[in-house]
Amino acid sequence: MKLVAPMAGKAQVLGLTGSPGVGKSTVSGSLIRWYRDQGLRIGVLAVDPSSPFSGGALLGDRIRMQEHATDDQVFIRSMASRGHLGGLSWATPQALRILDAAGFDLVLIETVGVGQAEVEIASLADTALVVIAPGLGDSIQAAKAGILEIADVFVVNKSDRPGAQEVVRDLRTMLAMARYDAADFKPPIVSTVASAGQGIEDLAAAIGRHRDWLDASGRLASRRQARAREEISAIALAALQQRTGGLPGESQLDELASRVAAGDLDPYAAADELLAGR
Ligand code: GDP
Repeated sequence: MKLVAPMAGKAQVLGLTGSPGVGKSTVSGSLIRWYRDQGLRIGVLAVDPSSPFSGGALLGDRIRMQEHATDDQVFIRSMASRGHLGGLSWATPQALRILDAAGFDLVLIETVGVGQAEVEIASLADTALVVIAPGLGDSIQAAKAGILEIADVFVVNKSDRPGAQEVVRDLRTMLAMARYDAADFKPPIVSTVASAGQGIEDLAAAIGRHRDWLDASGRLASRRQARAREEISAIALAALQQRTGGLPGESQLDELASRVAAGDLDPYAAADELLAGR
């Protein structure tokens, strides 16, 4: 990481999230094709929190992004959360940093917008895309999961399906109620039929406008600083967890826990002891 650090910071980072089945992979595939045509090299991190096997996820890569599998300018890596100390919030920024340093012009992080970690990861991108589709009760689901707040660009995919207009209307209403300052970037709504490649050029244009706004407003730097903050915290917390967690039954944490449970020690004093490593 020491060697890699000076080389990172050049890639544009796109986050893409949404409920299962809205067409995230299809949108990703179409975007990759569009940016490849512009001559960009692309890294993809597909974050699948449900997959217990990172090896198994490789098969998913081949099925979902077959078209790009033989393109040596596209690198696709799946990440599964289980079995990682520190989880996705630790592993994803590290993988992103490596791809950035390796010279990919654009890194696309695709997450399933169901859990807090996935939402956080998407929100750490330079530009966060939230994909919604009609017929899944999605506007409501998305609002519940808190993923609407993180959107820089809304993608209403499956616009060939009934109900797409209503989804766009609901989003417009919601955005009209939200307060934006003149200096803020008001998230555009882009309709797509990703399976037919429709609307992808508009989507790329909206991403470009957001990127220009980030540069002009100085927000790119503050976003990247926020990302670095998260990265440092995740590493520090994982290290602390490793130091204090130990093996069940023999760690300092277990010993303190039994004292707290027995009422011999208060939890604040126990936490102090744990942090001091005594
Ligand atoms: P993900 O789970 O969000 O990654 O969704 P997928 O990209 O796997 O897509 C789910 C299904 O929706 C697949 O069968 C796609 O072919 C289909 N799909 C994707 N985009 C569109 C679209 O714009 N219109 C229609 N009708 N189907 C689509």
